[in-house]
Amino acid sequence: MLEERLKSVIRDIPDFPQPGIVFKDITPILKDQQLCGEIVDQLVNYLQGIEIDAIAGVESRGFLFGMLLANRLSVPFIPIRKQGKLPFNTISESYKLEYGQATIEVHEDALVPGSKVLIHDDLLATGGTVVAASKLLEKLGADIIGYAFIISLDFLHSEGRLTRFSDWIISLAR
Ligand code: IMP
Repeated sequence: MLEERLKSVIRDIPDFPQPGIVFKDITPILKDQQLCGEIVDQLVNYLQGIEIDAIAGVESRGFLFGMLLANRLSVPFIPIRKQGKLPFNTISESYKLEYGQATIEVHEDALVPGSKVLIHDDLLATGGTVVAASKLLEKLGADIIGYAFIISLDFLHSEGRLTRFSDWIISLAR
């Protein structure tokens, strides 16, 4: 089963990036192109029959499968980046981290207002990042139709934070 294989490949790194945090490292997935293909196949399967105009991915690990998925679905990919990285005119959204705050940005011409956008990131933890991404894209007139993650940290129960935008949430592993 794909979920079991993902869980066996994704490794826990204790005390990264700071003491007390157990970081889920998805990079071993990238060594296995068969597995990468199956991830995209599975996401495409789930998305069958759903109208999607664009996939938005959050820097940086959200770019890996976000772009593959967008390419497979033949829809545009929208890169959401950390502050100061995008070269053209941007709009931004700030959100709270456990310590401090972060700002993400998108190009002001990234989408046509009314576009149905699926947001992808590698991992859902507290949901803060994708909530900010949703607000950011809504400022451009996006209709957030759902979320797709490789893995969700279910014990954080953060999916409820996303339902004000969409309750359509895919996670390949929990
Ligand atoms: P959230 O905003 O708390 O949901 O955190 C999710 C964001 O932080 C995503 O962009 C992830 O890539 C990143 N992230 C948080 N924890 C981990 C982890 O354990 N492994 C990989 N990425 C993580």
